[in-house]
Amino acid sequence: MRAGPSQEEIRRHNLGTLLRYVHVKGPMSRAELTTSLGLNRSTIGALTTDLTAVGLVREEVPRDHGRAGRPSLVVRPQSEGFYVYAFTVEVDRVTAARVGLGGVVLDRREVARPRGDRPADKVVAPLAEFVRDTEKLVPPGAMCVGSAAAVSAIVRQEDGMVRLGGHIGWVDEPLGAALAEALGDARGLRRTMGLDDARGLDLTPAVRNGADLAVLAEHTRGVAVGIDNVIYLHGDAGIGGGIIAGGRAVTGHGGYGGEVGHMAVNPQGRACACGSRGCWETEIGEHALVRGAGRDGTGRAAVAAVIDAASRGDAMAQASLRHVGDWLGFGVANLVNIFNPEMIIFGGSLRDVYLASAAQVRGRLNKMCVQAVREHVRLRTAALGEDAELLGAAELAFERLLADPLEVANGEPGIADSVVEET
Ligand SMILES: [Zn+2]
Repeated sequence: MRAGPSQEEIRRHNLGTLLRYVHVKGPMSRAELTTSLGLNRSTIGALTTDLTAVGLVREEVPRDHGRAGRPSLVVRPQSEGFYVYAFTVEVDRVTAARVGLGGVVLDRREVARPRGDRPADKVVAPLAEFVRDTEKLVPPGAMCVGSAAAVSAIVRQEDGMVRLGGHIGWVDEPLGAALAEALGDARGLRRTMGLDDARGLDLTPAVRNGADLAVLAEHTRGVAVGIDNVIYLHGDAGIGGGIIAGGRAVTGHGGYGGEVGHMAVNPQGRACACGSRGCWETEIGEHALVRGAGRDGTGRAAVAAVIDAASRGDAMAQASLRHVGDWLGFGVANLVNIFNPEMIIFGGSLRDVYLASAAQVRGRLNKMCVQAVREHVRLRTAALGEDAELLGAAELAFERLLADPLEVANGEPGIADSVVEET
């Protein structure tokens, strides 16, 4: 029989729980924390004292406490003191951000990238340049606690190898390795400036599929907070999907799960970038919409132009939008029947397509979905907009700090593999 968790294990677990809570919910009084976390007042006091000692939070007297007596101190995450780097590699742009504890974007840069076949080391160069430039300005004592990247591609979780990025032009491209190498150089600069205080942390970036990180962000601090069965659909040149079922990410065996864009929906359809035919993204991706409207162009602007033309009475644009909306509903209906989600979120260009064709989408759901599963499904647009993937990468990068704050912030040895129960 396994012994129960030790006092120390319980303390470390509670520190992570409290820090995660203010990281996600923002500054909060001790009294609110006591109620929300179900711990007693003295425990909350001891935990915040510990977190304050290593600089992860600060406690302050609330400005507008009206009641008599001693006010409950407000616990605030120290966004400037602990930060991560988050990156995205998308079809038309790369973005980089330094994100502070609490999910605060401290610095951000976006660089447009031309579509086409470019090696990973070139694509990540502007990301490393951002880190180099930013590190020169980071106050001494501030601590980088992780990094992660989102890529619009099918990516191997263990090492960030892009197995297929049909619209980025990548097959077996070592994005994770390229990023690690470029960032190694960037951090070397901080070391030579005498600013490195990483205390032996391994900051090798985790690389994940963009939609998988977008759904994480929306679930953590977006439209799907508190909703444990949710599917995020991202549209650009292709279609990405991120699925959370029963509160857990559906990533599959190698991290390739949720590739809903390659769900075969039309055996007589067009050839897909993945090598198959009639994939969902060949029916609802930007190419289908724009060409169907008899137009040229790529990207969000081309999609918006079709939607705008349709709203002004352009018959071809209207027909294309109806066609794409119908196929959008067709695929969503299948996903609803399979996963019984509480919410479907439309992001990227699919946000615009969904809003302009909601009637077609709903029509398909009504025709194709089992009534019991469609009754409660809500169709929504991404609350975090274009930054969902970037903020999801930041959440992933913060994960180790939130799991064991003292190990990371203070260099204390971690409690590995211990099963700790709620107190
Ligand atoms: Zn495909």
